[in-house]
Amino acid sequence: INRNPGEAEFHQAVREVFDSLHRVLAKHPEYVEASTLERICEPERQIIFRIPWTDDNGGVHINRGFRVQYNSALGPYKGGLRFHPDVLLGTVKFLGFEQVFKNALTGLPLGGGKGGTDFDPKGRSDGEIMRFCQSFMTEAYRHLGDRVDIPAGDIGVGPREIGYLFGQYKRISNRYESGVITGKGITWGGSLVRTEATGYGTVYFTEHMLRTRGQSFDGTTALVSGSGNVAIYAVEKVHELGGTVVGASDSSGSVYDPDGIDRELLRDVKEVRRGRISDYAQERPRAEFIPGRGVWAVAEKTNIDVALPCATQNELHEKDAHTLIKAGVSAVAEGANMPTTPEAIRVLREAGVLFGPGKAANAGGVATSALEMQQNASRDSWSFEYTEQRLSEIMENIHIRCAETADEYGIPGDYVAGANIAGFTQVADAMIAQGVI
Ligand code: NDP
Repeated sequence: INRNPGEAEFHQAVREVFDSLHRVLAKHPEYVEASTLERICEPERQIIFRIPWTDDNGGVHINRGFRVQYNSALGPYKGGLRFHPDVLLGTVKFLGFEQVFKNALTGLPLGGGKGGTDFDPKGRSDGEIMRFCQSFMTEAYRHLGDRVDIPAGDIGVGPREIGYLFGQYKRISNRYESGVITGKGITWGGSLVRTEATGYGTVYFTEHMLRTRGQSFDGTTALVSGSGNVAIYAVEKVHELGGTVVGASDSSGSVYDPDGIDRELLRDVKEVRRGRISDYAQERPRAEFIPGRGVWAVAEKTNIDVALPCATQNELHEKDAHTLIKAGVSAVAEGANMPTTPEAIRVLREAGVLFGPGKAANAGGVATSALEMQQNASRDSWSFEYTEQRLSEIMENIHIRCAETADEYGIPGDYVAGANIAGFTQVADAMIAQGVI
Protein backbone atom coordinates (compact mmCIF):
# COMPACT_ATOMS: atom_id res chain seq x y z
CA ILE A 1 0.00 0.00 0.00
CA ASN A 2 2.86 2.40 0.79
CA ARG A 3 4.50 1.69 -2.55
CA ASN A 4 1.29 2.29 -4.48
CA PRO A 5 -0.46 5.13 -2.64
CA GLY A 6 -3.95 6.14 -3.70
CA GLU A 7 -4.52 3.06 -5.86
CA ALA A 8 -7.52 1.65 -3.97
CA GLU A 9 -8.83 -0.48 -6.83
CA PHE A 10 -5.41 -2.02 -7.38
CA HIS A 11 -5.14 -2.83 -3.67
CA GLN A 12 -8.62 -4.38 -3.77
CA ALA A 13 -7.76 -6.61 -6.74
CA VAL A 14 -4.47 -7.76 -5.20
CA ARG A 15 -6.06 -8.43 -1.82
CA GLU A 16 -8.78 -10.55 -3.40
CA VAL A 17 -6.24 -12.78 -5.13
CA PHE A 18 -3.89 -13.01 -2.13
CA ASP A 19 -6.81 -13.88 0.19
CA SER A 20 -7.26 -17.04 -1.90
CA LEU A 21 -3.63 -18.12 -1.78
CA HIS A 22 -2.88 -19.13 1.81
CA ARG A 23 -3.74 -22.78 1.12
CA VAL A 24 -1.45 -22.79 -1.93
CA LEU A 25 1.46 -21.20 -0.11
CA ALA A 26 1.17 -23.69 2.75
CA LYS A 27 1.40 -26.55 0.26
CA HIS A 28 4.00 -24.97 -2.05
CA PRO A 29 6.68 -23.01 -0.18
CA GLU A 30 8.59 -22.60 -3.47
CA TYR A 31 6.25 -19.75 -4.41
CA VAL A 32 7.31 -17.84 -1.29
CA GLU A 33 10.98 -18.70 -1.70
CA ALA A 34 10.99 -17.37 -5.28
CA SER A 35 9.24 -14.14 -4.15
CA THR A 36 6.51 -14.70 -6.73
CA LEU A 37 3.98 -12.68 -4.73
CA GLU A 38 6.23 -9.60 -4.56
CA ARG A 39 7.13 -9.94 -8.22
CA ILE A 40 3.55 -10.39 -9.33
CA CYS A 41 2.56 -7.12 -7.60
CA GLU A 42 5.02 -5.12 -9.67
CA PRO A 43 4.13 -4.59 -13.35
CA GLU A 44 7.03 -5.32 -15.69
CA ARG A 45 6.65 -1.91 -17.34
CA GLN A 46 4.33 1.10 -16.96
CA ILE A 47 4.11 3.74 -19.64
CA ILE A 48 2.44 7.11 -19.01
CA PHE A 49 2.22 9.63 -21.82
CA ARG A 50 0.74 12.92 -22.97
CA ILE A 51 -2.05 12.88 -25.55
CA PRO A 52 -2.54 16.28 -27.17
CA TRP A 53 -5.50 16.66 -29.54
CA THR A 54 -7.62 19.37 -31.13
CA ASP A 55 -11.41 19.60 -30.90
CA ASP A 56 -13.72 20.67 -33.74
CA ASN A 57 -13.47 24.32 -32.70
CA GLY A 58 -9.67 24.36 -32.69
CA GLY A 59 -9.40 24.08 -28.89
CA VAL A 60 -6.37 22.14 -27.67
CA HIS A 61 -6.84 19.41 -25.06
CA ILE A 62 -4.37 17.30 -23.15
CA ASN A 63 -5.21 13.87 -21.80
CA ARG A 64 -3.10 11.27 -20.07
CA GLY A 65 -2.46 7.87 -21.64
CA PHE A 66 -1.42 4.67 -19.88
CA ARG A 67 -0.18 1.26 -20.91
CA VAL A 68 0.72 -1.15 -18.16
CA GLN A 69 2.64 -4.15 -19.48
CA TYR A 70 1.93 -6.25 -16.48
CA ASN A 71 3.28 -9.75 -16.91
CA SER A 72 4.71 -11.65 -19.88
CA ALA A 73 5.40 -15.04 -18.29
CA LEU A 74 2.87 -16.81 -20.52
CA GLY A 75 3.00 -14.74 -23.70
CA PRO A 76 2.97 -11.20 -25.08
CA TYR A 77 1.08 -8.60 -23.07
CA LYS A 78 -2.62 -8.65 -23.94
CA GLY A 79 -5.49 -6.56 -22.63
CA GLY A 80 -7.88 -3.79 -23.58
CA LEU A 81 -7.83 -0.01 -23.64
CA ARG A 82 -10.34 1.97 -21.58
CA PHE A 83 -11.42 5.51 -22.50
CA HIS A 84 -13.23 6.96 -19.48
CA PRO A 85 -12.75 10.17 -17.46
CA ASP A 86 -12.25 8.20 -14.20
CA VAL A 87 -9.21 6.30 -15.50
CA LEU A 88 -6.12 6.69 -13.30
CA LEU A 89 -2.91 4.67 -13.18
CA GLY A 90 -4.39 2.57 -10.34
CA THR A 91 -7.41 1.69 -12.50
CA VAL A 92 -5.20 0.42 -15.29
CA LYS A 93 -3.01 -1.48 -12.82
CA PHE A 94 -5.99 -3.25 -11.26
CA LEU A 95 -7.29 -4.19 -14.69
CA GLY A 96 -3.82 -5.37 -15.79
CA PHE A 97 -3.39 -7.45 -12.63
CA GLU A 98 -6.76 -9.16 -13.18
CA GLN A 99 -5.95 -9.66 -16.84
CA VAL A 100 -2.80 -11.68 -16.07
CA PHE A 101 -4.78 -14.40 -14.26
CA LYS A 102 -7.75 -14.24 -16.62
CA ASN A 103 -5.50 -14.79 -19.61
CA ALA A 104 -3.84 -17.72 -17.85
CA LEU A 105 -7.26 -19.31 -17.26
CA THR A 106 -8.03 -19.30 -21.00
CA GLY A 107 -5.21 -21.81 -21.47
CA LEU A 108 -3.92 -19.68 -24.37
CA PRO A 109 -0.39 -18.26 -24.62
CA LEU A 110 -1.12 -14.73 -23.41
CA GLY A 111 0.58 -12.43 -20.93
CA GLY A 112 -1.41 -9.65 -19.32
CA GLY A 113 -1.56 -5.89 -19.79
CA LYS A 114 -4.05 -3.07 -19.90
CA GLY A 115 -4.18 0.54 -21.03
CA GLY A 116 -6.38 3.56 -21.24
CA THR A 117 -6.82 7.25 -20.86
CA ASP A 118 -8.89 9.79 -18.94
CA PHE A 119 -10.35 11.07 -22.24
CA ASP A 120 -14.17 11.26 -22.14
CA PRO A 121 -15.58 10.17 -25.51
CA LYS A 122 -19.19 11.12 -24.57
CA GLY A 123 -20.54 13.86 -26.83
CA ARG A 124 -17.43 13.99 -29.03
CA SER A 125 -17.78 14.02 -32.82
CA ASP A 126 -16.38 11.31 -35.06
CA GLY A 127 -13.59 13.64 -36.13
CA GLU A 128 -12.61 14.37 -32.53
CA ILE A 129 -12.60 10.65 -31.69
CA MET A 130 -10.41 9.95 -34.71
CA ARG A 131 -7.90 12.68 -33.90
CA PHE A 132 -7.76 11.54 -30.30
CA CYS A 133 -7.15 7.90 -31.29
CA GLN A 134 -4.44 8.97 -33.73
CA SER A 135 -2.69 11.00 -31.04
CA PHE A 136 -2.96 8.10 -28.57
CA MET A 137 -1.40 5.70 -31.06
CA THR A 138 1.33 8.14 -32.09
CA GLU A 139 2.96 7.46 -28.73
CA ALA A 140 1.60 3.97 -28.00
CA TYR A 141 2.71 2.33 -31.27
CA ARG A 142 6.39 2.12 -30.24
CA HIS A 143 5.44 -0.11 -27.31
CA LEU A 144 3.15 -2.45 -29.28
CA GLY A 145 3.55 -5.34 -31.72
CA ASP A 146 1.94 -8.70 -32.42
CA ARG A 147 4.69 -10.41 -30.43
CA VAL A 148 5.06 -7.61 -27.90
CA ASP A 149 1.80 -6.16 -26.69
CA ILE A 150 -1.65 -6.46 -28.27
CA PRO A 151 -4.38 -4.07 -27.11
CA ALA A 152 -8.15 -4.42 -27.67
CA GLY A 153 -11.34 -2.60 -26.64
CA ASP A 154 -12.83 -2.00 -23.21
CA ILE A 155 -15.14 0.69 -21.81
CA GLY A 156 -15.43 3.51 -24.38
CA VAL A 157 -13.42 1.63 -27.01
CA GLY A 158 -15.41 -0.27 -29.63
CA PRO A 159 -15.01 -1.07 -33.33
CA ARG A 160 -14.85 2.61 -34.38
CA GLU A 161 -11.96 3.41 -32.01
CA ILE A 162 -10.14 0.16 -32.86
CA GLY A 163 -10.35 1.15 -36.54
CA TYR A 164 -8.78 4.57 -35.95
CA LEU A 165 -6.11 3.13 -33.66
CA PHE A 166 -5.19 0.39 -36.13
CA GLY A 167 -5.12 2.85 -39.04
CA GLN A 168 -2.65 5.09 -37.25
CA TYR A 169 -0.47 2.13 -36.20
CA LYS A 170 -0.30 0.96 -39.82
CA ARG A 171 0.50 4.44 -41.06
CA ILE A 172 3.33 5.10 -38.61
CA SER A 173 4.89 1.65 -38.69
CA ASN A 174 4.35 1.04 -42.42
CA ARG A 175 3.36 -2.54 -41.53
CA TYR A 176 0.03 -4.23 -42.10
CA GLU A 177 0.42 -6.11 -38.85
CA SER A 178 -3.11 -7.41 -38.32
CA GLY A 179 -2.30 -9.16 -35.06
CA VAL A 180 -1.21 -5.96 -33.29
CA ILE A 181 -4.73 -5.15 -32.09
CA THR A 182 -7.93 -7.19 -31.73
CA GLY A 183 -11.58 -6.32 -32.18
CA LYS A 184 -10.98 -5.30 -35.79
CA GLY A 185 -13.71 -5.09 -38.45
CA ILE A 186 -14.59 -8.39 -40.11
CA THR A 187 -13.43 -7.28 -43.56
CA TRP A 188 -9.97 -6.22 -42.37
CA GLY A 189 -8.72 -8.94 -40.06
CA GLY A 190 -11.37 -9.15 -37.36
CA SER A 191 -12.88 -12.36 -36.09
CA LEU A 192 -16.52 -13.34 -36.15
CA VAL A 193 -17.89 -13.73 -32.59
CA ARG A 194 -15.37 -11.26 -31.07
CA THR A 195 -18.11 -8.64 -30.63
CA GLU A 196 -20.38 -11.11 -28.90
CA ALA A 197 -17.68 -13.07 -27.07
CA THR A 198 -17.54 -11.51 -23.60
CA GLY A 199 -21.31 -11.39 -23.12
CA TYR A 200 -21.84 -14.85 -24.59
CA GLY A 201 -18.95 -16.28 -22.59
CA THR A 202 -20.31 -14.90 -19.33
CA VAL A 203 -23.65 -16.58 -20.00
CA TYR A 204 -21.98 -19.89 -20.91
CA PHE A 205 -19.99 -19.79 -17.69
CA THR A 206 -23.17 -19.07 -15.70
CA GLU A 207 -24.99 -21.94 -17.44
CA HIS A 208 -22.19 -24.31 -16.36
CA MET A 209 -22.47 -23.07 -12.77
CA LEU A 210 -26.25 -23.54 -12.84
CA ARG A 211 -25.85 -27.09 -14.19
CA THR A 212 -23.88 -28.10 -11.09
CA ARG A 213 -27.22 -27.66 -9.28
CA GLY A 214 -29.33 -29.25 -11.97
CA GLN A 215 -30.58 -25.84 -13.17
CA SER A 216 -30.35 -23.91 -16.44
CA PHE A 217 -31.25 -20.50 -17.90
CA ASP A 218 -34.48 -21.85 -19.32
CA GLY A 219 -37.39 -20.04 -17.71
CA THR A 220 -35.21 -17.78 -15.54
CA THR A 221 -35.58 -14.05 -14.99
CA ALA A 222 -32.32 -12.13 -15.11
CA LEU A 223 -30.83 -8.66 -14.64
CA VAL A 224 -27.87 -7.34 -16.62
CA SER A 225 -26.18 -4.11 -15.62
CA GLY A 226 -24.77 -1.78 -18.26
CA SER A 227 -25.88 -1.51 -21.86
CA GLY A 228 -22.56 -1.63 -23.67
CA ASN A 229 -20.77 -4.32 -25.60
CA VAL A 230 -20.73 -6.96 -22.84
CA ALA A 231 -24.27 -6.28 -21.62
CA ILE A 232 -25.95 -6.32 -25.04
CA TYR A 233 -24.62 -9.76 -25.96
CA ALA A 234 -25.21 -11.16 -22.49
CA VAL A 235 -28.87 -10.20 -22.96
CA GLU A 236 -28.91 -11.85 -26.38
CA LYS A 237 -27.50 -15.16 -25.12
CA VAL A 238 -29.72 -15.31 -22.03
CA HIS A 239 -32.73 -14.95 -24.34
CA GLU A 240 -31.38 -17.62 -26.69
CA LEU A 241 -31.11 -20.01 -23.74
CA GLY A 242 -34.72 -19.41 -22.72
CA GLY A 243 -34.29 -16.81 -19.96
CA THR A 244 -35.72 -13.28 -19.84
CA VAL A 245 -33.62 -10.22 -18.96
CA VAL A 246 -35.92 -7.64 -17.38
CA GLY A 247 -33.42 -4.89 -16.55
CA ALA A 248 -30.41 -3.05 -17.97
CA SER A 249 -28.71 0.26 -17.15
CA ASP A 250 -26.16 2.94 -17.96
CA SER A 251 -24.45 5.57 -15.84
CA SER A 252 -27.64 7.68 -15.75
CA GLY A 253 -29.99 5.02 -14.37
CA SER A 254 -31.77 1.78 -15.10
CA VAL A 255 -34.68 0.40 -16.99
CA TYR A 256 -37.18 -2.22 -15.86
CA ASP A 257 -38.80 -3.85 -18.85
CA PRO A 258 -41.24 -6.56 -17.69
CA ASP A 259 -41.66 -7.74 -21.30
CA GLY A 260 -37.96 -8.55 -21.54
CA ILE A 261 -35.22 -6.27 -22.85
CA ASP A 262 -35.47 -5.83 -26.62
CA ARG A 263 -31.86 -6.50 -27.51
CA GLU A 264 -32.09 -4.99 -31.00
CA LEU A 265 -33.60 -1.75 -29.70
CA LEU A 266 -31.03 -1.56 -26.91
CA ARG A 267 -28.20 -1.99 -29.40
CA ASP A 268 -29.70 0.60 -31.72
CA VAL A 269 -30.13 3.17 -28.92
CA LYS A 270 -26.70 2.66 -27.36
CA GLU A 271 -24.41 1.69 -30.25
CA VAL A 272 -25.96 3.28 -33.32
CA ARG A 273 -27.64 6.40 -31.92
CA ARG A 274 -25.24 6.61 -28.96
CA GLY A 275 -28.23 7.56 -26.81
CA ARG A 276 -29.18 6.94 -23.17
CA ILE A 277 -31.03 4.10 -21.49
CA SER A 278 -33.93 6.51 -20.85
CA ASP A 279 -34.39 6.73 -24.65
CA TYR A 280 -34.84 2.95 -24.67
CA ALA A 281 -37.47 3.18 -21.91
CA GLN A 282 -39.43 5.77 -23.88
CA GLU A 283 -39.75 3.46 -26.86
CA ARG A 284 -41.05 0.42 -24.97
CA PRO A 285 -44.69 0.30 -23.91
CA ARG A 286 -44.34 -1.05 -20.36
CA ALA A 287 -40.74 -0.13 -19.57
CA GLU A 288 -39.97 2.08 -16.62
CA PHE A 289 -36.89 4.31 -16.30
CA ILE A 290 -35.40 4.45 -12.80
CA PRO A 291 -33.16 7.54 -12.76
CA GLY A 292 -29.88 7.56 -10.85
CA ARG A 293 -30.12 3.98 -9.60
CA GLY A 294 -28.28 0.80 -10.51
CA VAL A 295 -30.18 -2.04 -12.16
CA TRP A 296 -30.30 -4.03 -8.90
CA ALA A 297 -33.15 -1.69 -7.89
CA VAL A 298 -35.32 -3.71 -10.29
CA ALA A 299 -34.98 -6.65 -7.89
CA GLU A 300 -37.18 -4.68 -5.47
CA LYS A 301 -40.02 -5.08 -7.98
CA THR A 302 -39.78 -8.66 -9.20
CA ASN A 303 -38.19 -12.06 -8.58
CA ILE A 304 -34.70 -12.47 -10.02
CA ASP A 305 -32.89 -15.78 -10.62
CA VAL A 306 -29.64 -14.59 -12.21
CA ALA A 307 -27.71 -11.32 -12.00
CA LEU A 308 -24.94 -10.42 -14.45
CA PRO A 309 -23.05 -7.22 -13.61
CA CYS A 310 -21.63 -6.08 -16.97
CA ALA A 311 -20.93 -2.34 -16.53
CA THR A 312 -17.97 -1.33 -14.37
CA GLN A 313 -16.02 -1.96 -11.15
CA ASN A 314 -17.67 -1.79 -7.72
CA GLU A 315 -21.23 -1.42 -9.00
CA LEU A 316 -22.85 -4.24 -6.97
CA HIS A 317 -22.68 -3.38 -3.27
CA GLU A 318 -23.54 -5.23 -0.08
CA LYS A 319 -27.07 -3.75 0.07
CA ASP A 320 -27.63 -4.78 -3.57
CA ALA A 321 -26.55 -8.31 -2.67
CA HIS A 322 -29.19 -8.38 0.09
CA THR A 323 -31.82 -7.09 -2.36
CA LEU A 324 -30.92 -9.79 -4.88
CA ILE A 325 -31.00 -12.53 -2.25
CA LYS A 326 -34.48 -11.38 -1.15
CA ALA A 327 -35.55 -11.50 -4.80
CA GLY A 328 -34.45 -15.17 -4.98
CA VAL A 329 -31.19 -14.92 -6.92
CA SER A 330 -29.35 -18.22 -7.34
CA ALA A 331 -26.37 -17.17 -9.51
CA VAL A 332 -24.30 -14.03 -10.04
CA ALA A 333 -21.55 -13.90 -12.67
CA GLU A 334 -19.31 -10.93 -13.47
CA GLY A 335 -19.30 -9.83 -17.12
CA ALA A 336 -17.46 -6.69 -16.01
CA ASN A 337 -14.12 -6.55 -14.19
CA MET A 338 -14.47 -6.48 -10.38
CA PRO A 339 -18.07 -5.16 -10.41
CA THR A 340 -18.95 -6.82 -7.09
CA THR A 341 -17.49 -5.37 -3.89
CA PRO A 342 -15.75 -7.82 -1.51
CA GLU A 343 -18.55 -7.34 1.06
CA ALA A 344 -21.20 -8.15 -1.55
CA ILE A 345 -19.31 -11.29 -2.63
CA ARG A 346 -19.16 -12.44 0.98
CA VAL A 347 -22.92 -11.88 1.49
CA LEU A 348 -23.80 -13.72 -1.73
CA ARG A 349 -21.55 -16.67 -0.98
CA GLU A 350 -22.76 -16.97 2.60
CA ALA A 351 -26.31 -17.14 1.24
CA GLY A 352 -25.28 -20.05 -1.01
CA VAL A 353 -25.52 -18.05 -4.26
CA LEU A 354 -23.30 -19.37 -7.08
CA PHE A 355 -20.73 -16.67 -7.80
CA GLY A 356 -18.59 -16.51 -10.96
CA PRO A 357 -15.72 -13.99 -10.70
CA GLY A 358 -14.86 -11.82 -13.71
CA LYS A 359 -11.46 -13.28 -14.35
CA ALA A 360 -13.20 -16.57 -15.16
CA ALA A 361 -16.68 -15.53 -16.27
CA ASN A 362 -15.67 -12.74 -18.65
CA ALA A 363 -12.57 -14.40 -20.13
CA GLY A 364 -14.45 -15.20 -23.35
CA GLY A 365 -13.56 -11.81 -24.80
CA VAL A 366 -9.81 -12.15 -24.51
CA ALA A 367 -10.02 -15.81 -25.51
CA THR A 368 -11.74 -14.85 -28.75
CA SER A 369 -9.16 -12.10 -29.23
CA ALA A 370 -6.56 -14.86 -29.13
CA LEU A 371 -8.59 -16.73 -31.76
CA GLU A 372 -8.53 -13.52 -33.84
CA MET A 373 -4.72 -13.46 -33.49
CA GLN A 374 -4.55 -17.11 -34.59
CA GLN A 375 -6.58 -16.29 -37.71
CA ASN A 376 -4.37 -13.27 -38.43
CA ALA A 377 -1.19 -15.34 -38.05
CA SER A 378 -2.46 -17.99 -40.46
CA ARG A 379 -4.09 -15.43 -42.85
CA ASP A 380 -7.34 -17.29 -42.36
CA SER A 381 -10.88 -16.51 -41.28
CA TRP A 382 -13.15 -18.93 -39.53
CA SER A 383 -16.93 -19.31 -39.64
CA PHE A 384 -19.20 -17.97 -36.90
CA GLU A 385 -20.24 -21.49 -35.89
CA TYR A 386 -16.67 -22.79 -35.62
CA THR A 387 -15.47 -19.77 -33.66
CA GLU A 388 -18.44 -19.87 -31.30
CA GLN A 389 -17.82 -23.57 -30.75
CA ARG A 390 -14.20 -22.79 -29.78
CA LEU A 391 -15.42 -20.06 -27.41
CA SER A 392 -17.93 -22.38 -25.83
CA GLU A 393 -15.26 -25.09 -25.28
CA ILE A 394 -12.89 -22.55 -23.74
CA MET A 395 -15.58 -21.35 -21.31
CA GLU A 396 -16.40 -24.94 -20.38
CA ASN A 397 -12.72 -25.63 -19.72
CA ILE A 398 -12.37 -22.51 -17.59
CA HIS A 399 -15.37 -23.62 -15.56
CA ILE A 400 -13.89 -27.10 -15.12
CA ARG A 401 -10.50 -25.68 -14.10
CA CYS A 402 -12.00 -23.35 -11.50
CA ALA A 403 -14.30 -26.05 -10.11
CA GLU A 404 -11.60 -28.75 -9.99
CA THR A 405 -9.06 -26.40 -8.39
CA ALA A 406 -11.59 -25.45 -5.71
CA ASP A 407 -12.26 -29.17 -5.08
CA GLU A 408 -8.53 -29.92 -4.90
CA TYR A 409 -8.06 -27.28 -2.20
CA GLY A 410 -11.06 -28.47 -0.18
CA ILE A 411 -13.37 -25.55 -0.99
CA PRO A 412 -15.87 -26.98 -3.49
CA GLY A 413 -18.02 -24.45 -5.29
CA ASP A 414 -15.69 -21.54 -4.46
CA TYR A 415 -15.10 -20.20 -7.98
CA VAL A 416 -13.30 -17.11 -6.65
CA ALA A 417 -10.59 -19.16 -4.98
CA GLY A 418 -10.60 -21.71 -7.82
CA ALA A 419 -9.96 -19.00 -10.43
CA ASN A 420 -7.36 -17.19 -8.35
CA ILE A 421 -5.42 -20.34 -7.47
CA ALA A 422 -5.51 -21.85 -10.97
CA GLY A 423 -4.44 -18.55 -12.58
CA PHE A 424 -1.77 -17.75 -10.00
CA THR A 425 -0.10 -21.17 -9.99
CA GLN A 426 0.16 -21.24 -13.78
CA VAL A 427 1.75 -17.77 -13.94
CA ALA A 428 3.98 -18.34 -10.91
CA ASP A 429 5.26 -21.68 -12.24
CA ALA A 430 6.24 -20.01 -15.52
CA MET A 431 7.92 -17.14 -13.65
CA ILE A 432 9.96 -19.56 -11.55
CA ALA A 433 10.98 -21.56 -14.64
CA GLN A 434 12.11 -18.38 -16.40
CA GLY A 435 14.38 -17.29 -13.54
CA VAL A 436 14.60 -14.10 -11.54
CA ILE A 437 13.68 -11.55 -14.18
P1 NDP B 1 -18.89 -0.31 -22.98
O1 NDP B 1 -18.22 1.01 -22.99
O2 NDP B 1 -19.36 -0.91 -24.24
O3 NDP B 1 -20.14 -0.27 -21.98
C1 NDP B 1 -20.00 0.09 -20.64
C2 NDP B 1 -21.37 0.16 -20.01
O4 NDP B 1 -21.22 0.34 -18.61
C3 NDP B 1 -22.19 1.34 -20.50
O5 NDP B 1 -23.54 1.02 -20.44
C4 NDP B 1 -21.86 2.42 -19.49
O6 NDP B 1 -22.84 3.44 -19.35
C5 NDP B 1 -21.75 1.59 -18.22
N1 NDP B 1 -20.85 2.27 -17.28
C6 NDP B 1 -19.54 2.58 -17.50
N2 NDP B 1 -19.02 3.22 -16.45
C7 NDP B 1 -20.04 3.31 -15.56
C8 NDP B 1 -20.13 3.87 -14.25
N3 NDP B 1 -19.08 4.48 -13.67
N4 NDP B 1 -21.32 3.76 -13.63
C9 NDP B 1 -22.38 3.15 -14.21
N5 NDP B 1 -22.35 2.61 -15.45
C10 NDP B 1 -21.19 2.69 -16.10
O7 NDP B 1 -17.87 -1.29 -22.23
P2 NDP B 1 -17.83 -2.89 -22.24
O8 NDP B 1 -19.20 -3.44 -22.32
O9 NDP B 1 -16.82 -3.29 -23.23
O10 NDP B 1 -17.20 -3.19 -20.81
C11 NDP B 1 -18.01 -3.37 -19.64
C12 NDP B 1 -17.21 -4.08 -18.57
O11 NDP B 1 -16.79 -5.37 -19.06
C13 NDP B 1 -15.92 -3.40 -18.10
O12 NDP B 1 -15.71 -3.69 -16.74
C14 NDP B 1 -14.85 -4.10 -18.93
O13 NDP B 1 -13.57 -4.00 -18.33
C15 NDP B 1 -15.38 -5.51 -18.91
N6 NDP B 1 -14.88 -6.39 -19.95
C16 NDP B 1 -15.06 -6.07 -21.27
C17 NDP B 1 -14.60 -6.93 -22.26
C18 NDP B 1 -14.88 -6.69 -23.70
O14 NDP B 1 -14.62 -7.59 -24.51
N7 NDP B 1 -15.44 -5.56 -24.10
C19 NDP B 1 -13.83 -8.14 -21.91
C20 NDP B 1 -13.77 -8.43 -20.51
C21 NDP B 1 -14.25 -7.56 -19.58
P3 NDP B 1 -22.66 4.86 -20.09
O15 NDP B 1 -23.00 4.60 -21.52
O16 NDP B 1 -23.61 5.75 -19.38
O17 NDP B 1 -21.23 5.26 -19.86
